[in-house]
Amino acid sequence: MNASEFRKRGKEMVDYIADYIEEIEKRQVYPNVEPGYLRPLIPDSAPQEPETFEEILKDVEKIIMPGVTHWHHPHFFAYFPTANSFPALLADMLSGGLGCIGFSWASSPAYTEMEMVMLDWLGKMVNLPPQFLAGKDGEGGGVIQGTASEATLVALLAARTNAIKRVHTANPELTQGDILSRLVAYSSDQAHSSVEKAGLIAGVKIKQVPTDEKFAVCGSALQKTVDEDKAADLIPFFFCATLGTTASCAFDKILELGPVCNKENIWMHIDAEYAGSSFICPEFQYLLDGVEFADSFNFNPHKWLLVNFDCSTMWVKKRRDLTCAFKIDPPYLKHDHQESGLITDYRHWQIPLGRRFRSLKMWFVFRMYGVKGLQEYIRKHVKLAHEFEVLVRQDDRFEICADVILGLVCFRLKGSNKLNETLLKSINDARKIHLISCHLREKFVLRFAICARTVESVHVQFAWKHIEKLATELLRAPLQQQ
Ligand SMILES: *Cc1c(COP(=O)(O)O)cnc(C)c1O
Repeated sequence: MNASEFRKRGKEMVDYIADYIEEIEKRQVYPNVEPGYLRPLIPDSAPQEPETFEEILKDVEKIIMPGVTHWHHPHFFAYFPTANSFPALLADMLSGGLGCIGFSWASSPAYTEMEMVMLDWLGKMVNLPPQFLAGKDGEGGGVIQGTASEATLVALLAARTNAIKRVHTANPELTQGDILSRLVAYSSDQAHSSVEKAGLIAGVKIKQVPTDEKFAVCGSALQKTVDEDKAADLIPFFFCATLGTTASCAFDKILELGPVCNKENIWMHIDAEYAGSSFICPEFQYLLDGVEFADSFNFNPHKWLLVNFDCSTMWVKKRRDLTCAFKIDPPYLKHDHQESGLITDYRHWQIPLGRRFRSLKMWFVFRMYGVKGLQEYIRKHVKLAHEFEVLVRQDDRFEICADVILGLVCFRLKGSNKLNETLLKSINDARKIHLISCHLREKFVLRFAICARTVESVHVQFAWKHIEKLATELLRAPLQQQ
């Protein structure tokens, strides 16, 4: 394909995407295919001779689309939202076109400098304390990680390095291995599975701190666990707090937890993947009170801030915590402006070496929506969640299972788990809307998350009528009742 064909095909591709998004409601939100559906539809190996763009595009409709779950369908209420906006798509295209790899300042200066500024912009939008911002010469700063899982792992590894150094300095007779075997990290019993995975990769124990009746960890619960572990000769060093848990969007009490962590020399990392975007609205910023005690903070604009995947923004108060933990300087990566004041080499802030120009997506989205446009977007989703909550509360066959604070409603039929499992199955089998479940303590609960950029009240009303109808049918079937 030469540049002139690219011009033509590029325009066709943009049309295809615009049609897809504009007409997404004509498609079925959840596909009908069975595992292994795709392999028989395409050849066993790559073609020897070149094929045409037309042939490929035809196959997209024939082979790919039947197996796509349409996350941007306004009847998609599963998981959490994943961002999708036109400005971000265009920025991604430019990033692909430039195609540089921005691992150091010198490898493409605009990559690094734009990322530093965008992280400051976003940090100010969510009202982070100034220690987290890079500014012109700050000690803190932000970085874009691929996912929250990577951010948690990076924070945990940096905290591990810090803790080993600290303990070794105080007790030079201990080996690294001795110290490592005694380290213990914590998260909420509601924390995302990525925290446990980070523990497995880092080779440290992770303990889950029990949550209260609101599914939140409070200061005394953490203190109690820490005291027990210290008495058992363990070394507590890391706590991952969650703001907006995946199951029910619960908020750990970081105002109580922060002082415990600071006093005990425990690195506090805050995982606010979904909820973090809402902090651009002043009315939700109280949820972030206590972030001043944290060492690192992370959320996913690729969930709820209209910046397409991947864009997981992470801030640290002391950039040296990361750069010291991950710094390796082979001669082929040296340049005249090594990390010093103004210069950031992001390869020292992450696991991989290579990185794309992801901050372009933020720049395009922030400028084309404006902070006000993004605030309106968040508020609309929260309002729709409350609209759904009211509908559920009006039907006394149902119950609400957790406080509705942002765009997620956890609900269930009053009755057994079996009954609710059957309801969820009938909802998803009908394929008119798509939901998933979670467990809250011993209860099987349905999660209704406001997801699509284009979702409106009519879609929420449609979903509720549909759920009500299926519930009525289910409750009528005598054998199912228990
Ligand atoms: C979605 C989510 C994650 C995982 O995010 P990735 O960026 O996909 O790794 C982690 N924690 C919480 C609370 C989440 O909601």
